[in-house]
Amino acid sequence: MKLGALGEFGLIDSIRARVGVAPGVHRGIGDDAAELEIPAGHRLLTSTDLLLEEVHFRFAWTSAYDLGRKAVAVNLSDIAAMGGEPRFVYVGLACPAATEVSQLEAFVNGVLAETAEHGVTLVGGDTCRSPGPWVISVTVEGTAPVGTAVGRDGASPGDLVLVSGTLGDSALALSLWQQGENPDSWLAARHNRPSPRIALGRELALTGLATAMIDLSDGVASDLEHILQASGVGAEILGPALPLSLAFRSHLERQPGLIDLALGGGEDYELLCTVPAARLDEALSAGGRIGVPLTMIGTVKERAAGFRLRDAAGEVRPLRVRGYDHFCR
Ligand SMILES: [Mg+2]
Repeated sequence: MKLGALGEFGLIDSIRARVGVAPGVHRGIGDDAAELEIPAGHRLLTSTDLLLEEVHFRFAWTSAYDLGRKAVAVNLSDIAAMGGEPRFVYVGLACPAATEVSQLEAFVNGVLAETAEHGVTLVGGDTCRSPGPWVISVTVEGTAPVGTAVGRDGASPGDLVLVSGTLGDSALALSLWQQGENPDSWLAARHNRPSPRIALGRELALTGLATAMIDLSDGVASDLEHILQASGVGAEILGPALPLSLAFRSHLERQPGLIDLALGGGEDYELLCTVPAARLDEALSAGGRIGVPLTMIGTVKERAAGFRLRDAAGEVRPLRVRGYDHFCR
């Protein structure tokens, strides 16, 4: 059956029936607005993201189910980057009337699986016919106790730069697809099924360990630059310290130029944070406890030091920002 036969309200009713009741939700899907409760002494964190077919994803390289999961996950990652707890999600979707209902169901299954995994509730959204590509807009709301949310503006000279997980896997998978090759299933999942680092972000925030934090959507070079700008500081990154997966290393042996993907490749959705040097061990053990390893990759410097990379030979060069900018290609 095509979506055109089911209709918008048939689609919304089928989703509402599956979401059910959830804590904090007085009114969810189906009224003019959601009516929600946030815990006393908390502040609301809100973030939104747009995913456009052929710009952010291609159905040749992802399933509709994985797309539904990723559309939610990348938004949860933004709440993780503030140290918050995600609670409510809204999904806007435009797709052609000729879309198969089964494909749409797979997308909704992905959305609901990702929200369920993280204890988040789908409380609203909108649907509309698209004359061409799919357009997905997800908004997430989370909360954090007053005074605990971590911004991009708190890094000070002497702080250390830490990153979770490994870098460049997602960009490597994408570059393989673009070259007509197939990444192995682990690399493909690093691109199509990112894991928002919610527990780690909350731990780094609630313990006051992170002085600044961001999630890696555009690559370390670009995303750390956002922290440096907001904090009015510089930084030196240690090239050999960048955490790389075994899969990434095996490709790197054949193609040394791929190291650029670890610095400038996007969509890792790992957390990048700054931590006072005296609290490094505490931060590393927090990562260990949560099961998402943190790696120290550099030091925050005075602004005059700029943003630079020190390579294995000890040579230092300015770090050119190669992150993704939608309006400057
Ligand atoms: Mg972000």
